[in-house]
Amino acid sequence: MDTTQTGPYRTSPSLRSFMPRVLLQALIDALNDAGFRCVGPKVRDGAIVYETLRDVSELPAGMQDVQEPGRYRIESTGTPRMFAWANGPQALKPLLFAPSEVLWYARRQADGSLAFEADLPQEKPLAVFGVRACDLAALAIQDQHFTQQAHGACTDPYYAKRREEMFLIAVNCTHPASTCFCASTGDGPRAQQGFDMALDERDDGFLVTCGSERARAILDRMGLVQASGEQIDEAMRATDDATQRMTRSLPGRNLRDALFARLDHPRWEEVAERCLSCGNCTSVCPTCFCHSEHDLQQIDGMQSQHVREWDSCFTRGHSQIHGLTVRPDTRTRYRQWLTHKLGSWHDQFGRSGCVGCGRCITWCPVGIDITEEATVICREQP
Ligand code: SF4
Ligand code: SF4
Repeated sequence: MDTTQTGPYRTSPSLRSFMPRVLLQALIDALNDAGFRCVGPKVRDGAIVYETLRDVSELPAGMQDVQEPGRYRIESTGTPRMFAWANGPQALKPLLFAPSEVLWYARRQADGSLAFEADLPQEKPLAVFGVRACDLAALAIQDQHFTQQAHGACTDPYYAKRREEMFLIAVNCTHPASTCFCASTGDGPRAQQGFDMALDERDDGFLVTCGSERARAILDRMGLVQASGEQIDEAMRATDDATQRMTRSLPGRNLRDALFARLDHPRWEEVAERCLSCGNCTSVCPTCFCHSEHDLQQIDGMQSQHVREWDSCFTRGHSQIHGLTVRPDTRTRYRQWLTHKLGSWHDQFGRSGCVGCGRCITWCPVGIDITEEATVICREQP
């Protein structure tokens, strides 16, 4: 499966098109007609989340998120812009790697034998609007894990089926939250690759950068005009400004050796005194992929379901091996999260597991900040 869409427009700014705001509905309709289920950002329960998108009026026009450690709220700004916010609690992860799903059934046959049946996804392919650069970077990591046999394992057919035809409409980020640091990890705020289309939002419409042949087929039918040099310069300036406004950063892009040299640092104990071991950080993290599996048996013994659910390195059961809990306390669990995410991830995937989305900071109920913890631990000599 080629998950890195390439196309003639992406690398050539002169081939960006201008799409008036009114044509966004035509794009949604064209993708629906092409057999996709459109998904886009909407306001629900006080947060911006991905849901089925049928009409442009459902997008969060004039809404902006305000994020701080342990805090998220949205407020109305009155602008016509629909993507003037940073991110919500979800990335693309739940759309591809379901929080809970039945992988297969085992059914007892009349002759007493067992028949096994996989339950592969049957849904329409998704077209996702509003994807951020950090989430595209996270998707590339998840692709490595689930479909490119990163550890000699097999391709995951559940993820691969959903990923195969997924159509991605990125929107370059001009409103980073205070918790964002994608510039520090090199993953944003401008989407560089892995999209079908990337939009730069303006008050009067969008600049559209085409990233795949299938996107070009749709855009060609819409009769868009070429963007002006001035429009392109403004778009580039807007994401450059976003970069400048980010105040958080990690102390380096490869902290593997620094972290593993400090496994006995007293800060692990200090952070453990605050950490609730709730696992929120791993749930919202777009790159975390740990899961557990269990069987649900029918009471008459005729059928069982094999279920996969998201798990977290913060749970007790996650490190239980042959009755022994390898990481019995919050200190060792937090240390596992950080040393894997920012350290041994490099051995597995050739890069850090953090794309700087800031979600683990915002959605941590006690506001633990990965950039602060990594900085303190790596700053001092062991
Ligand atoms: S570790 Fe935190 S900031 Fe980094 S990708 Fe995961 S949720 Fe985002
Ligand atoms: S760091 Fe925060 S979100 Fe993560 S387990 Fe601890 S308390 Fe929960």
